[in-house]
Amino acid sequence: MPKYEHHFRRSQRAFERAQGVLVGGVNSPVRAFGAVGGQPIFIERGEGPYLYDVDGNRYIDLVCSWGAALLGHAHPAVVSSVTKAAADGLSFGACCSAEAELAEQIVGAFPSIDMVRLVNSGTEAAMSAIRLARAATGRTKIIKFAGCYHGHVDSLLVAAGSGAAPFGAPDSAGVPAEFARTTLLAPYNAPAAVEALIREHGKDVAGIIVEPIAGNMGYVEPVEGFLSGLRELCDKHGALLIFDEVMTGFRVAWGGCQTLWNIRPDITCLGKVIGGGMPLAAYGARRELMELVSPLGKMYQAGTLSGNPVAVAAGIATLKAVQMTPLSPPLQRGEAPPSPSDASALGAFAPRGRGVYWELQGRSKALADGLRAAAARNGIAVQAGACGGMWGFAFSKGPVRNFLDAKACDHARYAKYFHAMLERGVFLPPSGYEAMFISTAHNDEVIAEVLSAAEESFESVKP
Ligand SMILES: *Cc1c(COP(=O)(O)O)cnc(C)c1O
Repeated sequence: MPKYEHHFRRSQRAFERAQGVLVGGVNSPVRAFGAVGGQPIFIERGEGPYLYDVDGNRYIDLVCSWGAALLGHAHPAVVSSVTKAAADGLSFGACCSAEAELAEQIVGAFPSIDMVRLVNSGTEAAMSAIRLARAATGRTKIIKFAGCYHGHVDSLLVAAGSGAAPFGAPDSAGVPAEFARTTLLAPYNAPAAVEALIREHGKDVAGIIVEPIAGNMGYVEPVEGFLSGLRELCDKHGALLIFDEVMTGFRVAWGGCQTLWNIRPDITCLGKVIGGGMPLAAYGARRELMELVSPLGKMYQAGTLSGNPVAVAAGIATLKAVQMTPLSPPLQRGEAPPSPSDASALGAFAPRGRGVYWELQGRSKALADGLRAAAARNGIAVQAGACGGMWGFAFSKGPVRNFLDAKACDHARYAKYFHAMLERGVFLPPSGYEAMFISTAHNDEVIAEVLSAAEESFESVKP
């Protein structure tokens, strides 16, 4: 592809250099473009909805740091808070008041959370959440769903293989089978399979961990009754329900999916948006559970950089900016409430941050609907959905409800489509197994630009 080389020469050189000293040239595998082919672009800077690479190409960013950049890149309020905090020292390893300020924001937004512990990554949050579930129940096994990602902690790196297999096999070399055996695997959106697992292992199950919208096998919404079914099963069998809202928290609604659909998990994992682009994550629960954590309780968990003042400043500034955006009345844009549940969805955007999430919902839905229609005009079947600032599409004739469906999508076509969009200045996730994101900086003009690139790109990948 000569055009490719011409436009990406500096990125290519940067990648060659990086490959000498960084494994595969990257610090997180998806960035290597292995799933879509070609060479990764190297980003020089971001501003609002745009990324600029080292060759001077501009892209509309639909990755948004995997959802973290809710306000877009280099938002002035966030940059100024971070700069101010940095000038006062980067890290103390001692208490600072801003930690409690961010924690109060989170506790105020999530009805199931009385207390939180701040950590540095979603991986740490999920790892600590399952430790807490085990500490609280004295049980060992965790049920997870095929295609759900909870970071790279050993016992949660179990996802591939037949969804029907009762025991998971490790997804990665270096994960002992003994660890993987503590993880029971069920297909997403299949409450009956979970019930069968619980019937067999009920007394050993410490918790069920789930992404309330799956965003790591494409964008997969929960079917009606799936999440509430998990809640009932946990109540009946004394297991704890863990919502991994690292991606959905403060992204689909103020208070996450649990507020949107009025389902209370026992433990919640947060990350991405709450750090506003800095390394910051959290886990939280009701008081009696969190009091099991050290120094109050017997479950040990710690971190040199946890509650880092600069990261916390970015999180506070981000959540403040969301709250300060004026409210817009529900349904103002004439949009249908987000699926899967109607009545409770109205409460989703109240009381704070409502305007932001309705704006985001309107625009991500416009993208999902627009892409589906543009694909159809070119004779291509596409499934698409959106919730708040999170959305996605997949090359599939039928609905995508679980990991098997996700694997059956046309990933070769996605790879071609990815490059067609990249050449037209739109940065999609470099893998068909990822959700997509927009920020508050993605205004109607930006959305229109994406849709026009999308139309041309469908033409270029049609059969
Ligand atoms: C991103 C993500 C994680 C992992 O977070 P890291 O900060 O990458 O460790 C965990 N769970 C979900 C649902 C995620 O989307």
